[in-house]
Amino acid sequence: MPIRVTIWNEFRHEKTNETIRNIYPDGIHNTIGAAVKQRLGDAVDINSATLDEPEHGLTQDVVDHTDVMLWWGHAAHQEVADEIVERVYRRVLKGMGLMVLHSSHYSKIFKRLMGTDCGLLWREAAERERIWCVNPGHPITNGLGAYIELDHSEMYGEHFDIPTPDELIYISWFEGGEVFRTGCTWTRGKGRVFYFGAGHETFPIYHNADIQQVIANGVQWLAPAPASPYRENAAHAPVPLSPIAGDHEVDESIH
Ligand code: ZN
Repeated sequence: MPIRVTIWNEFRHEKTNETIRNIYPDGIHNTIGAAVKQRLGDAVDINSATLDEPEHGLTQDVVDHTDVMLWWGHAAHQEVADEIVERVYRRVLKGMGLMVLHSSHYSKIFKRLMGTDCGLLWREAAERERIWCVNPGHPITNGLGAYIELDHSEMYGEHFDIPTPDELIYISWFEGGEVFRTGCTWTRGKGRVFYFGAGHETFPIYHNADIQQVIANGVQWLAPAPASPYRENAAHAPVPLSPIAGDHEVDESIH
């Protein structure tokens, strides 16, 4: 069965700013979707959702039938309804993978999952960025080299206010001197989370083949394992495996 992917995009800049529209005429979500489809083919079923659709395109049915969600937001994080954030959050805990891209570090869903402020330093000076791989055995780095170089990027710098990642995959160096943990993973409940910092909207970063490869690898890595009876029923009250020699009364009223 293909991995069911939903790419969520704020999709405002592309409609209001000519520079951004020229780089992403069909929206960032469609550029990313085409790149993932080109690499993973029939292994993925790709759909998109955007902020201005009813329920931001993330109805309960859409969320329930998503294995991996990608999230790109920037200027309108506060317009995302809390009810939808909670819906996505609960789905991650049940096993959906979530890829949080670039300025989505400040999205409600990422902050909800991390439990920290998720702030960082930033500078928009079209400077050089080298994204260094620090975990070459990780599946997210498959097919990629020691580093990915971007001629023009937005600087994101430390301190990045996140919980210590379960895995650090990429660290960025910027021409101006800063460094940044730009590829990080966490587990939340039964779901995986991958933050990837590349992707400022006024630079053609999602057209870069290496960046596209990281995202495609990320989709594969985030996909949940096939459901097992244990995973589905883990919350049920267990029957003892062996007799319990209890010699005191259980007070049922406390349950
Ligand atoms: Zn940016």
